[in-house]
Amino acid sequence: MARLRLVVPCFMLAISLLSCARRALALDPPSPPPPVYVKAAHLFDAASDAVRDNVVLVIEGERITRVAPAAEITIPSGAEVIDLSHAWVLPGLIDCHTHLSYRADQYDPITEVKLTPFDFGFYAVVNANRTLQAGFTSVRDVSSPPFLAVDLRRTIDEGFIPGPRVVASGPGISITGGHGDMNGFAPAVSNEMYPAEHDFAIVDGVDQMRHVVRAQIKYGVDVIKLLATGGVLSEGDKPGAQQLTYDEMKVAVEEAHRAGRKVAAHAHGTEGIKDAIRAGVDSIEHGSLIDAEGIEMLKAHGTYLVADIYNDDYILGKATEFGLPKENVDKEKMVGRLQRENFAKAVAAGVKIAFGTDAGVYPHGDNARQFHYMVKFGMTPAGAIRAATSSAADLIDRAADVGTLEAGKYADLIAVTDNPLDRIEVLEHVAFVMKGGKVYKDELGATKPAR
Ligand SMILES: [Zn+2]
Repeated sequence: MARLRLVVPCFMLAISLLSCARRALALDPPSPPPPVYVKAAHLFDAASDAVRDNVVLVIEGERITRVAPAAEITIPSGAEVIDLSHAWVLPGLIDCHTHLSYRADQYDPITEVKLTPFDFGFYAVVNANRTLQAGFTSVRDVSSPPFLAVDLRRTIDEGFIPGPRVVASGPGISITGGHGDMNGFAPAVSNEMYPAEHDFAIVDGVDQMRHVVRAQIKYGVDVIKLLATGGVLSEGDKPGAQQLTYDEMKVAVEEAHRAGRKVAAHAHGTEGIKDAIRAGVDSIEHGSLIDAEGIEMLKAHGTYLVADIYNDDYILGKATEFGLPKENVDKEKMVGRLQRENFAKAVAAGVKIAFGTDAGVYPHGDNARQFHYMVKFGMTPAGAIRAATSSAADLIDRAADVGTLEAGKYADLIAVTDNPLDRIEVLEHVAFVMKGGKVYKDELGATKPAR
């Protein structure tokens, strides 16, 4: 009896405490965070090609609420001010072609049967932070073990680890023996996590394609990555050779678009590029051997070109040191040069360009090195920056949230110490990084309280 009497009041106390807590929550919703004022000496907001001087951005919580000339905004005394009044401020950069779980010092094919999913997970944690520190506040991750990029996106969004916003794909979808398959080993050798599903990566025929696209969407991907042609860094295939058929790609696009997902197609070869465009993909990745007809088709369909025109330097310079087989070096020599020439032709023709580098093939954090080449091969500096901001946001379907510095967008911004329109390479040394209103890097002392 004594024990019962004790239990009942404790139980009732718990209930009344709970209802008190509920009432407190209902009566006192958490007050919104006080606004933060960012003073920008020069602002490239990426909504146009112009730079504006002496601008203030008002940030409340994760988002920008106002952008206006400094003269129009009164900063209340005691307000938190981020002083970038000697810097150029731009939207956080976006790389539409990364592999956060890959390292650029593992080219020996033997790693394919030595690494576990955990290895890739550890790499991704480090690489995500390096990418953010380099000023890339959003990335599209296009191929990783199933479904690492989805889990990475969630863990970063939870605030548990630092990293860019991730638009996640599953494994790139390949034919048997294609760019995404593990080739060159005995038939008994395999390193699959989900053998019954061929790691949601290998399809032959439209029915298998439909199943894998649906399954990838079921497990949380934001974007479908197709491997339309052979690759440079894979074994036993030719970059120019088409692999997925038109019908297979058409079904993938149909399923993805029906579910509100975009489709990115890895395509080096001339015919594979054209079939991917005809099938309705949203971006051609690499586009190395595109011809004049392919360029016209990109324009006619409004398909983005995402050409990774920096990493040739790294692959030919460093990768052999790390065990890249001669077959791949020879392919890179041939494809890399043509890719840059064809990129220049596409730019001249007015094709839509989004910034994507294939980070992971070269070290993460060096993403901005590609700007130099984009300008060298025909883009204006403003055009190259917009490829990595507003245009990239459009391609990855995040234009409502990122890509420009305007009221309503996430407060994802970076600062550099020189005018990137005069010297694009300054973007290789981003000095200040904010994502969602939170400062992740400040080499300028911008957040020091005013004295
Ligand atoms: Zn890639």
